[in-house]
Amino acid sequence: MLVNLKYVLNLAEKGGFCIPAFNVYNMETVMGVIKAAEEMKAPIIMQVYPRLMKEETGYYLSPIILAAAEKATVPVCFHLDHGPSELETTRSLRYGATGIMLDGSTLPFEENIALTKRVVDTCKFVDVQVEGELGHIGTTKDDELDEFTTADDAKKFVEETGVACLAVAVGTAHGRYKKPPKLDIERIKAIREATNNTALVLHGGSGVPDEEIKAAVKAGVRKMNFATDICYAFLDCCLEELQKPERTVAVDNFMKKPIEAVKDFCITRIKLVGADGKA
Ligand SMILES: [Zn+2]
Repeated sequence: MLVNLKYVLNLAEKGGFCIPAFNVYNMETVMGVIKAAEEMKAPIIMQVYPRLMKEETGYYLSPIILAAAEKATVPVCFHLDHGPSELETTRSLRYGATGIMLDGSTLPFEENIALTKRVVDTCKFVDVQVEGELGHIGTTKDDELDEFTTADDAKKFVEETGVACLAVAVGTAHGRYKKPPKLDIERIKAIREATNNTALVLHGGSGVPDEEIKAAVKAGVRKMNFATDICYAFLDCCLEELQKPERTVAVDNFMKKPIEAVKDFCITRIKLVGADGKA
């Protein structure tokens, strides 16, 4: 069942758990993610990088995501990840997205607020909600993590933009970590309190120790992104299959194992964030 961002966030808030948001890249990753969600009876988010929406991939991939979501026995939100501008957010709406992230975190504070609010107002017309970002979440290649989100800024940002959820910088980064990150759980609690319990989003979930993830969910993280590890699950399996002397040549049959590998990975994350059995 295709649902909007507000729908899945409400489920998470009421149940005190977190919605896993899985990045998808092609039909096979979509299939793996949906199989995991249905098997675990979990509400999920399937999200797409803005780059795919700008290239022709988004044109082909969006109908696949929508078909999967509409057929699914569990609630699925189709979300744009890290939309940098109104080009990507508007195009994603046209492609049928039911959740939009506007990432204005590299802009000056007031400009981030203004742009995010504009996207929130546009999305309202089609009953789609918006994820904002405050405090830049960098990549694991950066030497130092960027500025953490403060509770005061978060309060002002949420009040003025009307976002449904907020991505915060609390110790994670995008990519693969060289050493396990330490999350600032007290900061998560403080931001929740200051923002009247706004749903918080953790990016860079791949590679964060399980105990840290559980603590973050308990403190109020309601959406957690997994992107890098989906790619590794898929590609590592492809590589392994390619090295077999009797490898399958029919591409559809070849893809069956990588689809299963994605499914198996997603099942571990669904359980970790407590979304299993919550659909
Ligand atoms: Zn991210």
